[in-house]
Amino acid sequence: MRKESKNLYLHADGDSFFVACEISMHPELRGHPVIVGGDRGIAVAMSMEAKKLGVTRGMPVFQIKKFFPEVVILSHHFDLYQDIADKMYLILLSYFAKVEIYSIDECFALVEPSIVKYFGGEKKLLVELKKEIEKTLQVTYSFGLARTKTLAKQASKLEKPNGSVILISKEDEEGALRKTSIEDVWGIGRQTAPALVRLGIKTAYDFVNYPDVKIIKNFSKPLLVLKKELAGEQIMEVENDSDPRDQKSIQATSTFHPASSDTKIIWREMAERAEDGCKNARVINLVSNKVSFFVKTSEYKYYFDEVKLTEYTADPGSVLDAIEPKFLRLLPKKARIRSTGVILHNLKRQEEVPLDLFGKQKKALKNLVVEEVADKIRKKYGEDTIKRASSLKRKETN
Ligand SMILES: [Mg+2]
Repeated sequence: MRKESKNLYLHADGDSFFVACEISMHPELRGHPVIVGGDRGIAVAMSMEAKKLGVTRGMPVFQIKKFFPEVVILSHHFDLYQDIADKMYLILLSYFAKVEIYSIDECFALVEPSIVKYFGGEKKLLVELKKEIEKTLQVTYSFGLARTKTLAKQASKLEKPNGSVILISKEDEEGALRKTSIEDVWGIGRQTAPALVRLGIKTAYDFVNYPDVKIIKNFSKPLLVLKKELAGEQIMEVENDSDPRDQKSIQATSTFHPASSDTKIIWREMAERAEDGCKNARVINLVSNKVSFFVKTSEYKYYFDEVKLTEYTADPGSVLDAIEPKFLRLLPKKARIRSTGVILHNLKRQEEVPLDLFGKQKKALKNLVVEEVADKIRKKYGEDTIKRASSLKRKETN
């Protein structure tokens, strides 16, 4: 039996991602053979229907036109793909504290036991997450949930498209490893795979059962890490940005219960997100001059807006003052809101912010010092010792 207190790892992988993004904008193409790559002269991504016809990745467009005239050929729209990927990241962040962007259509997330418990089990958590993604983004992802990152990555491949594979029991893990041929193991290169096959290692299962000493003798160290991860030994972590000061944006999102249509409650939540985001920026001396914010309804509809700040800051008061007029207009009538989020963009290191002639920027940064002192007091004496006037005010009017 698995101990309840163990973290799990989630891997999400977009299904025919570029094509799926295009179809989300052109639903009339759903069910048709579609490829993306018209601008490159080759098929870069194919819909399931195109794959079934026999279109393969890298096939020249002139050939596709000749042999498969029914295929719809589209060009790339990278802004659209990035936009959907960004929204996916936000959705994952509203569930999990640690999310790693691995590629435009792949993410890892750390799944803590408390979140599994909250949703009433691994299966229910994935069902809820999938429902939200499909409804919000109109594209599907395949999921793998397992004891390690490597197992999660293998698991997401097993039931494509729109799959969700949960590997927790030893038997399920073993079954998955037996189904995975060695060249399909994440991190095993084209040169390494044949070398392993020569040693009689044909599947991930064979690999896991091969003696460590022989791997150490014949291969590099990363291969041993891979083996241990496949055997369920957690070594690789979900990684955020390497240098936190290089990040370009900071998000603070949260889901609250029960969902509410009470403006005051929603504003209080928003104010707290602004405080969280600003605090996380101040801790590493980052400031922002553009803030976006959103509310999400209980029907998974997103309402986004953004504001430009007059000065670079990480002061929640200034951020909330800028958001407030637009916030009321953003709020859909009568909708029940279940989560709010604030994102600080254009992050700059405080010491790199250009100062203006009138000293406004200097003053804004100086005001931050007061907030930083307040952060220290909060840290020492507890979160509730000092609350921003802005969120406090809203609380009192409740
Ligand atoms: Mg993919």
